[in-house]
Formats: sequence, C-alpha cells, structure tokens
Amino acid sequence: MEALEQFKNERIEYVHAVVEHAEKCTRWLSDFETYVDNARQERVEQYYTRIVWRFRELGYEDQDIHVMRSRPESMRDRDVTERVWKRTRPVLQPYIDIARCKRLDKSEATIIESRKALVNRVYDKYKRTLRPMESVYGPPYELIHAIPAFRSLIYTSLDVPLQEAACDETAQRLPEYIAAFKDRLKRRLTRCMLGAGASTTPRPTDSEGRLGLAISVFVLKTMNKWHNHVCFGLKDVAVHLATYPHVSPYPYDTAFWVAMSESEGMESGDTILYHSRPGSTVVECLLSKVGLDPNIARPEDLDRLDRRFLCERCSYSNWSPRMPLDLAYTWRNAATHGIRIHTQGNERPAWRVLDGEEHIVVRRAEQFNGQNRDQLWSCNHCPVHRGYPRSRQAILRHARSDHHIAEPQEDIDFFDTYPEARYGGSTVSLSQSFADAANAMPVCILPALAG
Ligand SMILES: [Zn+2]
Ligand SMILES: [Zn+2]
Repeated sequence: MEALEQFKNERIEYVHAVVEHAEKCTRWLSDFETYVDNARQERVEQYYTRIVWRFRELGYEDQDIHVMRSRPESMRDRDVTERVWKRTRPVLQPYIDIARCKRLDKSEATIIESRKALVNRVYDKYKRTLRPMESVYGPPYELIHAIPAFRSLIYTSLDVPLQEAACDETAQRLPEYIAAFKDRLKRRLTRCMLGAGASTTPRPTDSEGRLGLAISVFVLKTMNKWHNHVCFGLKDVAVHLATYPHVSPYPYDTAFWVAMSESEGMESGDTILYHSRPGSTVVECLLSKVGLDPNIARPEDLDRLDRRFLCERCSYSNWSPRMPLDLAYTWRNAATHGIRIHTQGNERPAWRVLDGEEHIVVRRAEQFNGQNRDQLWSCNHCPVHRGYPRSRQAILRHARSDHHIAEPQEDIDFFDTYPEARYGGSTVSLSQSFADAANAMPVCILPALAG
C-alpha cells in the first residue's frame, strides 16, 4: 500500500515536471514564433522600401508610389534582385501611374487638358487615314490617353511644353498600339468566359470564334447598379467602348482605361467586366424561339430578325405594381431584363416570341413613340456620310450607284453609325399597344426597363 502511495507521488511529481517543461517550451516557441514573424515583417518592410526607392528613381512621387502598399507584389519576403525588379515593376507601375494620373487630372487640370487636346488632334489626324468604319469604331480618346507611350507624354515633364512633333512621333505606332489593344480585349473576354465556366468550344471557324456569337454575353458593371451595360459578342464590346464615353453621364474612370491598355490580368478599378451566364441563357432561349442555332447565331442575325419577346416569368408574377407585365422587349433588352431582374433562383428563363399581328401592332406603337432608327447608316468606302448618316435604303443606293457594288454587305460596304442606339428606345406594353390601336389613341410611352 505504501509502495503504491509512493509510486503515485512519484508519478504526480513526474507529470508536474513534464507539464512545467511543456509550458516553458510553449512560451519559448511562442516567443520564437514572434521573433521569426517580426524578422519576416522587417524583411518585407525592407523589400517595400527598396521597391519605393526604385520607383523614386523613375521619377515618381511618394504620394503616388504608396498606393502599391495594398498590392501583395509590393510586400514580399525576398531580395530586390534585378530579376525580381524586372518582374515586379510592370505589375506595380500601372497602379502608381493611375494614382499619378488621377492626382494630376485634378491638381494640374489646365495643362493636362491641353495636352490631352493635343493628343486628340493627333489621333483625329490618324483616324482620317482610316476607313470610315474603323474610324467610328476605333478606341476612344480615353483609351489613347491611357496607352503607356501617350500616358507618359501627357503626365510627365509638366514643366516642359509638349510639342506636337513628339505626339506625331508617338502616333506613328498607333496602328500597333490599337492592334495590341484589340488582341488584349479578345484575350480578356476569352478569360472572362473561361473564368465563368462558359464553353469556348466548338469554335465557329471565323477569327472571333465563340466571342462573335450572340450567346457570348458580357457585362460591364460600374459602381452604379443601374449603369451596368450588357454587350453581345466581341464586336459589341469594342463598339460600346468606342462610343460609350461620348454619350454617358457615368464615364469609366482612368483605372479602367489603364487596365484596358495594360496586360489583361490587371484589375480595372470600379468597373468590372464579366461573362454573364444568365444573359447567355436568356439569349439561348430567345434563339430557340426564333429557330436559330446558338452555336452559330451572331448578334447581327437576331438584329436582322428584329423580333419582340415577352417575359413569361414577369407575366405570372407581379413584382412591380406600377409596371405593366407584358412589355415587348427587343432581344437585347430581353437579355438585359433577364440579367437585371431575374437574378435570383435557378428558374429557367421563359420567353414568348410575339406572333405576326402582335409584332405589327407593337412596332407601330414603338414608331409612334419615336423609336425609328433608320437614319443611322454610313458608307464604308468614302467619307461622304461622315457626320451625316442616312437611311439604310439611301446608303444601299449610294453603294450601288457611286461604288458600283451590286450587293452591298453590312460591315463591309456600309455600317451602323450609332450602334449604341440598338439598346435604347421605349419598350411598349403589348396589351396597351392593342388598346391604343383599337382606340386609335396616342400610345403611352413607358420607360424602358432595360437599355
Ligand atoms: Zn421578367
Ligand atoms: Zn461611299
């Protein structure tokens, strides 16, 4: 019994000793971890400081440089070797550039504006050498200002006047810059599609591949919820970027244009570009209603049919007592409606295509509301319609008589001068259109839900 007591006491003593030792070790480990962590922090800070120095050497100011602190690439635990700097600089520099552009746009507004005007003049001069369609659909001034070579002309050496000759010299490489921008845009959109899990196969055989299809729906979303813009296929995105800055009260900011002019991995500030699966599903549904194959149908095919569609999900609900539930949407506005309104749940889109008589009545109501977009075409062979677009029929006559083209082709011989107008216009109620047609009363204008 005594032996057992002694054994117990010995064990208790032993366990106490072990626990005490373990506590000591834990404290030591914790101290060691803190030490290692502090040492690491110190090295990261040193790395950051060295990167700051490198950017100072390039002529940047601290107030702009420090925006890179939020970028993981500026906070690494490693030495700044030449190899590391070569890789890191192009990743961080655009963000610092954006900070500088934004600051100087405000603090040196007069000089920056006059430099931008000079670049615009040089770009206009270049555009006059292009075919009319390339000129109208070319990138906007905002993108040109963001191209690194022009960005540097506009925002550096503010104490020395910028000479037109310097702009002209940079402008000689415009064809190359614009081609690179178009390539990057393609890659960016393809990446968006892959990121959203959308299939990029099978590919139609033309150069745009699946990016040219109507089901390739992209959204440009700004901070303002109601100013997201829906585009169908590569051409739509390019045209939207070309024309949007001239018409929008909510222009995209410098960060967006710099991201568009840099490698496609860059974040674009408040504007997000993404592929919309719900939009794609709506377009697929509309295509099936009009008997087109989603694997080959392009936006132009749906534009040409120009049918109107009714959202059956709205018809069966009453989500807004103030809005009629039987609005007749164009195919573009139908997809936009689907993206904006039916984002919840997994319910499939349900659309009905208007039949012959309904279509006629609705089109009449739209025309009565001033939605007549038949004055918007230009010749692509000569500048005679620059600023003076004509009706499609007039342009066809012009192409046949002045250019001797028997069968003029859209986007080759002539083109839509204001493609953005495809999104706008009033959306009319089907029942109201019939009621007004019966009463021969003026059709009431309803605000477009989409577009
Ligand atoms: Zn609906
Ligand atoms: Zn012509």
